[in-house]
Amino acid sequence: MKPLLIDGQWVNAPDAKANINPSDTNDVIELYALANEALAQQAIEAAANALPKWSLTGPQTRHDILRRAADEILARCEELGRLLSREEGKTLKEGIGEVTRAGNIFGFFAGEALRAGGELLPSVRDGVGVEITREPTGVIGIISPWNFPIAIPAWKIAPALCYGNTVVFKPAELVPGCGWEIADILTRAGLPAGVLNFIYGPGSVVGQAMLESPLVDGISFTGSVATGKRVAEACARHMRRCQLEMGGKNPLVVLDDADLDIAADCAVDGAFFATGQRCTASSRLIVSEGIHDRFVAACVERLNRQRVGDALKADSTIGPVVDQSQLDQDISYIDIGRSEGASLHWGGERLNRETPGFYLQPALFVDTAPAMRINREEIFGPVASVIRVRDYDEALHVANDTPFGLASGICTTSLKHARHFQRHSQAGMVMVNLPTAGVDYHVPFGGRKGSSLGQREQGTYAKEFYTEVKTAYVRG
Ligand code: NAD
Repeated sequence: MKPLLIDGQWVNAPDAKANINPSDTNDVIELYALANEALAQQAIEAAANALPKWSLTGPQTRHDILRRAADEILARCEELGRLLSREEGKTLKEGIGEVTRAGNIFGFFAGEALRAGGELLPSVRDGVGVEITREPTGVIGIISPWNFPIAIPAWKIAPALCYGNTVVFKPAELVPGCGWEIADILTRAGLPAGVLNFIYGPGSVVGQAMLESPLVDGISFTGSVATGKRVAEACARHMRRCQLEMGGKNPLVVLDDADLDIAADCAVDGAFFATGQRCTASSRLIVSEGIHDRFVAACVERLNRQRVGDALKADSTIGPVVDQSQLDQDISYIDIGRSEGASLHWGGERLNRETPGFYLQPALFVDTAPAMRINREEIFGPVASVIRVRDYDEALHVANDTPFGLASGICTTSLKHARHFQRHSQAGMVMVNLPTAGVDYHVPFGGRKGSSLGQREQGTYAKEFYTEVKTAYVRG
């Protein structure tokens, strides 16, 4: 059994949960100790007790620990990528890519630890100076989802530690493995006791304990809108900051003048790779009528080349859905789409493979209307729909007609339309001739409208959440 990490000690718990491989449900990866309310409280207290010392640790110490963690993650990217693919179900290539990203994030924040600075300004009053500095936010509760089991914990934990915060980290129930490895790597990299606590357990118990604790100064959450709202409400009650990254219903606009190969590649990658289980997935393909039929045919041609299978097999290009309940949700939305009058143009069937797993052929709907539920609600699986539009103006209107605002994209050779879309798309991240999913690790990440709340994650913008600004006036 893999234990919890509380105050620098590896701690067993009365209960444990099996980490199951979605490509083969007979494959139990490992048992992970399950925290209860009392253990969660211990972890929060440990983080609070470790804060005064860690918050004053010099930049070299923080740099060295983060750098050692980055180096180990990068050196072990194949092994950790395998673990990731085994527990979450994305293909091995995607799993190794995600681990590499996590390593690079730790490397980035190792550098940032050395760049902490402030501003020195003369006051408008003679003989007075003004110093603007940043201090850690405090104890950070980190709550992560299952779809990026190492990259999302990395992009929250690395900046939290870099800027001098202490952390209570709760991974999603389905994927404790990669989070546990991060805790282990950081401990061996020299992180002092209590600075990072790993408490695996149900959101309703462990997550809720973090939300209700007066010792927690900030919550960084990624997950569904429903849980995000609970987090925001609890944070408002406690008058503490929160950072929420939630769902998406991301549009990819394809105009008549698009390069057809680029557009179809962007659509199939953005909609279906990583089994469509990305918050930035292109689930609405908004296509102008002059290219519509050729675009759909080009997507089908690419879909015919995909092979849904065991995430660890070399010839699989799309892995299984993460678990039974997500599979049921995907299939139920495919039924909803049909009953709403959309035509299921390709795929959508449950697949059997050599091992028992949650295999689903990607589903492409055509003849869909913007008001259909499949175009308004996040499905979070390999299901995408094509919406036919007359022209760019209608495409932009449909793209923005959604409660979400995470990522968007446009495929066009028109500079005028590309620049107009970049300016007028109501999304936090806009892609031109690129898939809506797939972002860099050194620049801000986040959305607007119902997709996100609070400061941006990643890059130098991460400091806005993980630090508090202090303005000091000094005479003499
Ligand atoms: P989820 O909301 O079910 O769970 C997210 C986390 O919240 C888990 O760790 C869970 O245990 C915890 N949680 C559940 N109930 C809680 C409670 N009462 N108190 C505190 N914590 C609680 O989401 P999920 O199914 O793991 O992830 C899928 C969702 O995440 C999708 O909606 C997807 O779009 C979103 N997502 C968003 C981004 C982004 O950056 N915008 C990135 C990845 C995933």
